[in-house]
Amino acid sequence: MARQAGRVIAAHGRHFLVAIEPPAAKDGPLECVMRGKKGGVACGDHVEISPTHPGSGVIEQVLPRRNLLYRSDQLREKLIAANVDQALIVVAAVPQFREELLIRCLAACEAAEIPAVIILNKIDLPESAALASSLEHYAGLGYPVIHVSAHGDIAALATRAAGQVSVLVGASGMGKSSLLNRLVPDAAAAVGDISVALDAGRHTTTQARLHRLPVGGAVIDSPGMQEFGLRHLDASTLTQAFPEIRARVGQCRFYNCRHLKEPGCAVLEAAASGAIRSTRLRVYQSLIAQSEGPTR
Ligand code: GDP
Ligand code: ZN
Repeated sequence: MARQAGRVIAAHGRHFLVAIEPPAAKDGPLECVMRGKKGGVACGDHVEISPTHPGSGVIEQVLPRRNLLYRSDQLREKLIAANVDQALIVVAAVPQFREELLIRCLAACEAAEIPAVIILNKIDLPESAALASSLEHYAGLGYPVIHVSAHGDIAALATRAAGQVSVLVGASGMGKSSLLNRLVPDAAAAVGDISVALDAGRHTTTQARLHRLPVGGAVIDSPGMQEFGLRHLDASTLTQAFPEIRARVGQCRFYNCRHLKEPGCAVLEAAASGAIRSTRLRVYQSLIAQSEGPTR
């Protein structure tokens, strides 16, 4: 049968749900595997498939991506989402704010050239006030910060998401599922259906799924993460991924300054004066050290 164009709307181990585009009236998404062992497939990928049995097919080819958000540790890469307009990074003061995770997510977005928006959820809780003021620093770096409560007002988020393809990321417990269910009222049911369709005794967790928004656009939901490995970023990419460090390239005494402890370093001076946030510099330095480490 002829190849058909589609978009990956769920990734689940080596199994994917692909929505045929443009959608035919009666066809639901096809359950597909990748032909051979070629490269990875991400939720949001545009693909070409060959239908096999009714309801299933084979991914023949992943079409060129506009962008790809992924993380990586020593062992492997984890594709999060492809071909998105923006990343919505959900943070909250409760159960705890992990700034290093936010910094790593932002760096991954910068490296993938995906605009990042910080969503401060649980603004209804009194603990959120202090976090809201720390996040002003991030607004100053150019990342919009939006205040919402999944239990209350999400208007600012709904406006940001409308008409865009967004990937929703964040640590577990921040309220990602609650926000998704507000944006896409039948999301929970859809997730159940996808898990039933793809799991079939495989017991893998779904890595990501794409939900169409009733107002147009879509949200790709990824599972809550505990870590965001950036093994794939080399030192020069890391420098470009921190706007406040990127802005000072060329201002240090040594042209090849790594901004670790070199004399005459414009980045260290900016950190000493408070112009660069110390937590950001510390994470940057540890990422640089790791990128130069032996296990890369
Ligand atoms: P996820 O792990 O990021 O998907 O988080 P959930 O959506 O499961 O939410 C984790 C917990 O936080 C649940 O008990 C939610 O009811 C609660 N929660 C989510 N959003 C809010 C919020 O805006 N305000 C408050 N007070 N609690 C929230
Ligand atoms: Zn320097």
